[in-house]
Amino acid sequence: MDFSLSEEHIMIRDAARDFAQTELLPGVIERDNKQKFPKELVKKMGELGFMGIMVDPKYGGSGMDAISYVLIMEELSKIDASASVMVSVNNSLVCYGLESYGSEEQKQKYLTKLATGEFLGAFCLSEPEAGSDATSQRTTAIDKGDHYLINGTKNWITNGGSADIYLVIAQTDKDKGSHGINAFIIEKGVDGFHVGPKEDKLGIRGSDTHTLQFNDVKVPKKNRIGANGSGFRFAMKTLSGGRIGIASQALGIASGAYELALKYSKERKAFGTEICNHQAIAFKLADMYTDIEAARHLVMKAAWDKDQGNNYDRSSAMAKLYASKVAMEHTVEAVQIHGGNGFVKEYHVERLMRDAKITQIYEGTSEIQKIVISRGLLRD
Ligand SMILES: Cc1cc2nc3c(=O)[nH]c(=O)nc-3n(C[C@H](O)[C@H](O)[C@H](O)COP(=O)(O)OP(=O)(O)OC[C@H]3O[C@@H](n4cnc5c(N)ncnc54)[C@H](O)[C@@H]3O)c2cc1C
Repeated sequence: MDFSLSEEHIMIRDAARDFAQTELLPGVIERDNKQKFPKELVKKMGELGFMGIMVDPKYGGSGMDAISYVLIMEELSKIDASASVMVSVNNSLVCYGLESYGSEEQKQKYLTKLATGEFLGAFCLSEPEAGSDATSQRTTAIDKGDHYLINGTKNWITNGGSADIYLVIAQTDKDKGSHGINAFIIEKGVDGFHVGPKEDKLGIRGSDTHTLQFNDVKVPKKNRIGANGSGFRFAMKTLSGGRIGIASQALGIASGAYELALKYSKERKAFGTEICNHQAIAFKLADMYTDIEAARHLVMKAAWDKDQGNNYDRSSAMAKLYASKVAMEHTVEAVQIHGGNGFVKEYHVERLMRDAKITQIYEGTSEIQKIVISRGLLRD
């Protein structure tokens, strides 16, 4: 067992840290206020290889491992969780989905652009009546011979307005239940595809979230991903890896808040001494650091499982469940350590606290992670 990072991993982590400090930190408060994220920043992340981290270089990716992915995600998330969710969706849901299940033609046409950041991807599973219960898909894809006709509504879609390529899950045969579900590649701008207004959110406000409407959208048969009826398995397997991304996002939010709280506690004085010298504050820091380290071990274990080719359904669920809890609890503590300053935007911790909440909701709520973990335990 070896807990140390390789020299290459340290270099990758440091490059992500440097990018986050120099490119993401300036303007992060304004992006949060205005709910925007400039396309140039996505391009820059693409140039650094962050948009196709684990994709094979023959498709334009960086060919790195899952450990590198979580290191990059943690560093970006310390500063801007809106940037990191774009990276996570593009990498673990869209690129991974296409590389693992797509045809060679789909990979050449779409993956090569998604992996370099030329295109941005979105993953469209959730619907107004199908959130946690993802099998209740109401979006239909009717087989019309050489194409499918898609009708329905997807909501809460990350990159919903800014994506170029949408992976859309739909029901093709209701009688077959989850075995009658397929995944499709839909390009932005096709007839009958409408993007609704941007959601006004509590956190990750720089990331755009939209409802999408599909009215008789024609999708060529060659844009179906994988064998007929494999869409639900595709979605679940893809989300399993996605949870490693969100777990590392939660880890980054927690460790970013901890670093700010530690620094502030060494500068701020009360009762004639720096507040870190008050045991109540020092113990908060001890609890934060311990829990963040524990979360980091779970996140790294899940990434390691993926790299080893082990099943990572349970380890990714545990990593997400725990890291998101730590992020929520300790961003609140970071605000507390900052006192009144914690309550204003300038000090960053209030944004991290708002951003932390989503990590307990998307890509499976914490309750759903417990279902995944407990079902696995009871099956063993
Ligand atoms: C900002 C944001 C971005 C998102 N991005 C995407 C995206 O890019 N693509 C996408 O497809 N989706 C996306 N989602 C959707 C997200 O995955 C869902 O919101 C999430 O899965 C929960 O579904 P729901 O909102 O319908 O809640 P519900 O399923 O209605 O759940 C409500 C509550 O009931 C609990 N609950 C439900 N069923 C059970 C059960 N069996 N046992 C115990 N408790 C249960 C839940 O845990 C939750 O607390 C995003 C959501 C948000 C808010």
